[in-house]
Amino acid sequence: MRIWRYILGGLVGSAAYNRIGPSSYLTRITVHGTTSWHVIDCGLEPVPYTFDAREWYAVNLEELAAILHGERISTVLVTHAHLDHCGYLPALEPFLRDDAKIICTSVTKELIEYILHDVLMQSLARGGILGELPFQTLPLVRILQRLVAVDTPGVISLEKGIRVLLWPAGHINGACSFFFEISEGSVRRIVAYLGDSSVHRQTSVEGASLPPDQWLLKGRHDVIASLDCTNGGEEIALWEDERQRLLHDAMRVVKEGRRWIGITFSIVRAQSLAHELSLRKRQDSTLRNIPVYADGVSVRRISEVLKNFSWAGGRTLDLSDVEWIIGYRGRRSFMRNFESGWVLTPSGMGHGPAVDYFTRYLEDPATFIAFTGFVAQGTNGHRILNAQNGEIVRLGGNRGDEGGLALSVRAERAMYRFGAHQSRSEAIIRTLELFGIDSRSLVPGLRSDFSGNFQDLLPPGTDLSERQVGLTHGSTRALQWFEKSLAGIVKTARADQEDDRYREL
Ligand SMILES: [Zn+2]
Repeated sequence: MRIWRYILGGLVGSAAYNRIGPSSYLTRITVHGTTSWHVIDCGLEPVPYTFDAREWYAVNLEELAAILHGERISTVLVTHAHLDHCGYLPALEPFLRDDAKIICTSVTKELIEYILHDVLMQSLARGGILGELPFQTLPLVRILQRLVAVDTPGVISLEKGIRVLLWPAGHINGACSFFFEISEGSVRRIVAYLGDSSVHRQTSVEGASLPPDQWLLKGRHDVIASLDCTNGGEEIALWEDERQRLLHDAMRVVKEGRRWIGITFSIVRAQSLAHELSLRKRQDSTLRNIPVYADGVSVRRISEVLKNFSWAGGRTLDLSDVEWIIGYRGRRSFMRNFESGWVLTPSGMGHGPAVDYFTRYLEDPATFIAFTGFVAQGTNGHRILNAQNGEIVRLGGNRGDEGGLALSVRAERAMYRFGAHQSRSEAIIRTLELFGIDSRSLVPGLRSDFSGNFQDLLPPGTDLSERQVGLTHGSTRALQWFEKSLAGIVKTARADQEDDRYREL
């Protein structure tokens, strides 16, 4: 039995300093005398929206071809429907075996079908700026035909000696982790690709629980091939605290008769916030007449998916009070009379429909702009958040004719980490639990924002020194924090370091 792991995604070197890059891994498994290739995720990250951007961060296909050396991929497994995990799937088409399947949860399948079309349409719409399309229509159609949905958490068989457990990962609706079990004779190894994950409960989804005991990585050669390090760059406020703060501000603003604009992702976060605001409106009679608006076809479509499809841990959202703003014309006429109330508009970093809202309202002090998650450098969100009051900012647009607008920032602004990734200490504690350490045996009162030395917390006699953890899906600063925190406990590999990317496990 031999197992290799190739990190295809992420970023390397200086590009990794501030950005995360897309998620993608290739694993090569030889068992019972047969070798097979499996891909986990194939994402796409648009380069920051500047005018000279002509690229996507994605899997390097020449590198993939060189590794495969003429062999073909048997299975693709997709952890969840965020663009940086599924957006580049069509590019894999030439490398797939004729009978290759793309496996994901039922919710992820429904979301992918929508999102990949959306990527193509958006690319076509802004082709004038970006020049190149990430993929063409035909491979997209073939990829969609290969999708296979798994309806509940459980085990599937890939090849002789290879089984995979799909287990809920929290994060967003439909997200899962993949636990590979490779067995031959008396040898059994587990290799886990955890995907984006969160252990905290969110509005739309429960936190990830531990998999059944026989799937814990208790064997000396069991490996976590990818650990979500997204939140490792700094310790972030706890999700529940951020939720309270966000809702508190949102209620204050509308009670002052002002307009509250929530800049948010269209996958689940917009719907979660619409649900939360609707709930407040019903609980507080002074808010009864405050409208909850949601902007955009994508938010609406994804709401429909969430209503009709559920996967383990998905929670029901009540969006019956939401008033929808659909289409560019609809938005324009809505904006003529939007004086007070809540509106949720994609996208998270402040491009997409959000540009129209900035254009109209950024210079008005009666406006409150809430960014609801991480805001990357080089985006409108970053420029607006970091501007002094009255400072002129120049916006990047999402359509060729809209970019470059200079506006004086008068609106009140705030950022909330209403995030879907676990905090960095939670990620370490979960890692130890996955290796079979009972978290109750760690120091009593261990908090999720612990920042001491994790090695000191382990029960006496614990030896995990043979275990390996792949630190992935984080910026260099995040990966460094995880590396330091796990030093002396397990062996680690970092996605941003060329030497660590290809390994026999
Ligand atoms: Zn994600």
